[in-house]
Amino acid sequence: MDENAKRDWSINDFEIGKPLGRGKFGRVYVAREIKSKYVIALKVIFKEQLEKYKIHHQLRREMEIQISLKHPNILRLYGWFDDAEHVFLILEYAHNGELYKELCKRGHFSERQAATYILCLTKALAYCHEKHVIHRDIKPENLLLDHEGRLKIADFGWSVQSKSKRQTMCGTLDYLAPEMVENKSHDHAVDNWTLGILCYEFLYGAPPFEAESQEDTFKRIRNVDLNFPHAPLISKNAKNLITRLLVKDSSKRLSLQKIMEHPWIKENANHMGVCQ
Ligand code: AMP
Repeated sequence: MDENAKRDWSINDFEIGKPLGRGKFGRVYVAREIKSKYVIALKVIFKEQLEKYKIHHQLRREMEIQISLKHPNILRLYGWFDDAEHVFLILEYAHNGELYKELCKRGHFSERQAATYILCLTKALAYCHEKHVIHRDIKPENLLLDHEGRLKIADFGWSVQSKSKRQTMCGTLDYLAPEMVENKSHDHAVDNWTLGILCYEFLYGAPPFEAESQEDTFKRIRNVDLNFPHAPLISKNAKNLITRLLVKDSSKRLSLQKIMEHPWIKENANHMGVCQ
């Protein structure tokens, strides 16, 4: 995809293939740019929905953020165009789909796989934080896998969409940091908290503060009511990393740099970001 050639795309430039999925505001199809034969994912958003939820300014801002982010673990947005009724986003195609589905299928990941994903996420977040972008909404449904199994952060910071999506999906707020639950001001350290939650979920198959009701989840988050089940058996180093990320005082959470240097990551992660 030659995204440098700044050109006006139109739907006639693409052959549309099978649908890949459905989001709140539209649909996603696999598609091929006719000239280059380059395969992409085309997200079709209905303008009517943007009007209804009054989010066109937000969409525009988030598209501008995503188009400027070029990192192997962040899904590329190559460009966009529109017609009378739709906005079309030209996205990198993540052949292996949602990481969430993979997690559901396998139950939980091996330490090698979990560490590789956490390292990929940490690198992508370090790149974002350097650019003063905080994602604030990292969760398995926002993570996709490419043809080699490499993790890609998608839905970049489009938190209105993902929040509501999460609520309709399973009504959990498991990824919120205590400062967010308590409505306090927050900074990039919320992403570090989420890395702890994800690391736990990758290894055990469920997030650490899961509870029957939202109130109970909130309570468990506020109290950092963390415990490690007996099965599956998890290494001491993995538990150490999780415990050092799920720290109530956001200034005491392990930094992204320290995550990359942590012995569990050093011993288990594939530094090329692929694990199959
Ligand atoms: P979304 O509207 O972003 O929530 O996307 C709906 C669904 O389409 C997702 O859950 C994915 O399964 C799929 N999808 C979205 N973007 C891509 C992509 N770039 N490559 C492959 N599948 C995608």
